[in-house]
Amino acid sequence: MSRVYNFGAGPAMLPEPVMRRAREEFLDWGGTGVSVLEMGHRTAEFRSIAEKAEADLRALMGIPESCKVLFLHGGASPQFAMVPMNLLRGREKADYLHTGYWSGKAIAEARRFCCVNVAASGEEYGFLSIPIPERWQTDPEAAYLYYTANETITGVEFQQVPESGEVPLVADMTSNILSRPVPVERFGLIFAGAQKNISTAGLGVVIVREDLIGHLADHYPSLCDYALHAEKDSMVNTPPTYAWYLAGLTFEWLLEQGGLGEMERRNAEKAELLYKAIDDSDLYLNDVDPACRSCMNVSFRLADESLNERFLEQAREAGLVGLKGHRSLGGMRASIYNAMPLSGVRALVAFLREFERGA
Ligand SMILES: *Cc1c(COP(=O)(O)O)cnc(C)c1O
Repeated sequence: MSRVYNFGAGPAMLPEPVMRRAREEFLDWGGTGVSVLEMGHRTAEFRSIAEKAEADLRALMGIPESCKVLFLHGGASPQFAMVPMNLLRGREKADYLHTGYWSGKAIAEARRFCCVNVAASGEEYGFLSIPIPERWQTDPEAAYLYYTANETITGVEFQQVPESGEVPLVADMTSNILSRPVPVERFGLIFAGAQKNISTAGLGVVIVREDLIGHLADHYPSLCDYALHAEKDSMVNTPPTYAWYLAGLTFEWLLEQGGLGEMERRNAEKAELLYKAIDDSDLYLNDVDPACRSCMNVSFRLADESLNERFLEQAREAGLVGLKGHRSLGGMRASIYNAMPLSGVRALVAFLREFERGA
């Protein structure tokens, strides 16, 4: 068996050195004779894994002391509810930017808890562009301003961090966390499901300003309380230990690569190469506003859709898998997270050209 380039959106490719290291350590972690899979979460060994992972993430992202870092169950979606549960703090309203599928999900969930003010919507552009900040209608009484930093399905990414003034800024960074540096100090809360750019499925990472937590209403389940998770070092119950460990290996790998500035440079190079190949061709089309094209998820479609099946089949034969677009959008999508090497994008670009010649 040989490895292929996997462009799937998630669970997605992991860096090969991370998987090799996990394989080396699989049966015997650090001379203990025990696999991380079998290790008690309250042992000194797992504590050391957990603490190093947090320290490395703090170093990578420049997370200030005033923020807690939580490693929680359930990926990203539980945060659609936990954000309003915890951050409304007695307020009745929250601002949301509606830029596509994932922010739509977050809005629907938030409506169970508060009055959602959709401060801006990309709907009039078919969610292929983001309204400019001058047109946003934010509410000064909102408890927070929520946005989805990268809409994974369409491939629409904010190129700037929104200004929210005194209102805490909340971001779903599931599909672009760690892809470039971000000014964490400007956020009230950042969250990400781990299965796209961090680790394997089951883990959600939450970075939250400490002064915003501790206000959960009494009638909510205690497991929804960020403050409780912070107090118990994310070990209220058994955490997803293996996913946490793999996240730590990824953070270490990123530090070795030169950190997030270097990832930004590599990711920009990969994305430019791919968008240029699409723009230069007559067969492939990307409909996203160039001002907000994603560096992580490059969606495209074939001018002749009857070629879709043949395209996917021949791509698979060429060792390029996971290119089928999301079921809600159709077409194609190449996810090029941190783990996708430049060689994978080069191979895809060569395939795009070859397929077009034969079409
Ligand atoms: C994948 C994704 C989610 C959902 O993640 P789950 O862990 O499956 O809940 C949420 N937001 C964004 C931006 C995503 O890409």
